[in-house]
Amino acid sequence: MVMRNFAVWLMALALLPAPFFQALGQSPKREITRIAGEVYRFQNNFHYSVFAVTPAGIIATDPIDADAARWLKAELKRRFNKPVRFLIYSHDHRDHVAGGEVFADTAVVIAHENAKRDILDEKRPTAVPEVTFADRMTIELGGTVVELTYVGRNHSDNSIVLRFPKERILFAVDFIPVRSIAFRDFPDAWFPDWIESLRRVEAMDFDILAPGHGRLGKKEDVALFREYLESLRGQVQKYAREGKTLDEMKPLIQLGQYESWGGYKNWFQLNIEGMYRMVQANRRGN
Ligand SMILES: [Zn+2]
Repeated sequence: MVMRNFAVWLMALALLPAPFFQALGQSPKREITRIAGEVYRFQNNFHYSVFAVTPAGIIATDPIDADAARWLKAELKRRFNKPVRFLIYSHDHRDHVAGGEVFADTAVVIAHENAKRDILDEKRPTAVPEVTFADRMTIELGGTVVELTYVGRNHSDNSIVLRFPKERILFAVDFIPVRSIAFRDFPDAWFPDWIESLRRVEAMDFDILAPGHGRLGKKEDVALFREYLESLRGQVQKYAREGKTLDEMKPLIQLGQYESWGGYKNWFQLNIEGMYRMVQANRRGN
């Protein structure tokens, strides 16, 4: 019984935002680990970003929040003694881009053009991107090349992926969970564009997938997540076309093969609700 409660408590903790950790008097879990070559992963509790260390400075990505960014900036100075020259946002959501101003003294801030619009409109607490692009952009610093690609709308309408060709790493945030189902009820989601954007990522050349949450993955995890989305959408659409309500279809939807994936226990019912909302938005009832 004690163990069971402990597990429930741990699960509840996993859903709390970062400030809660400080409120509880626990320091956030922050860590830097090397993925491969020049590319490292930065962890702040349940959020991750990546950065590349080149002889001419550092290419950083999502700052996550101001405290995390200050910690990272001090660590980068201590470990590498190089300034951050570029700061690239994966998409506009606050929990990934907050704190960009910490690096703005030395870095050029880059994002998709729609991310800049949303950062301004939503008043995100971060540095406003100075350089934006629509489809593709390549950055070169100290002999290191990073390719930034907009793969279409998915989770947000401004998510970009970063490819590090030398290390064969792809950084993609929030729209390709690794062996995990989708977040809650698909907030800020675009369908069926999301599926198309995953196919574009599947056509790219890389081995390691570095997500914004959870463990590192491989290229094959992209197709696995696309198949999950397609299966979920297929079943929700089928029952909707049969005239079933959301409550009627919930117990009928069978995707037990994903039970071992992250988030299944807490979010599977919410995934059905979100998918139902999107399916219904794009069909005409009979
Ligand atoms: Zn997001």
